[in-house]
Amino acid sequence: MEPIANTEDLQAKRAAGEGYIYNDDQGGVEMHVFHRATCTTLALAKVPPRKWFSLDLQDALNWLHAYRGQEDVNWHRCDTQNSQCFG
Ligand SMILES: [Zn+2]
Repeated sequence: MEPIANTEDLQAKRAAGEGYIYNDDQGGVEMHVFHRATCTTLALAKVPPRKWFSLDLQDALNWLHAYRGQEDVNWHRCDTQNSQCFG
């Protein structure tokens, strides 16, 4: 995973539609959300709060497990319906 530099970088990655984005917002598991880059809920998202990017799902999951902890305990996959994400 690599840090996303700013809002323009985030929206360029979303427009490209490749890879995965992790939202490192402050708060509990409900704020620590892992998305596909295509996710429509990111359309108005900004940096900060800090976000991370990887083109590769396994790379992203390895990083999340190593640095953020357990899925559904410390972070979760976006489950918003009809968002072109994991839901
Ligand atoms: Zn999402």
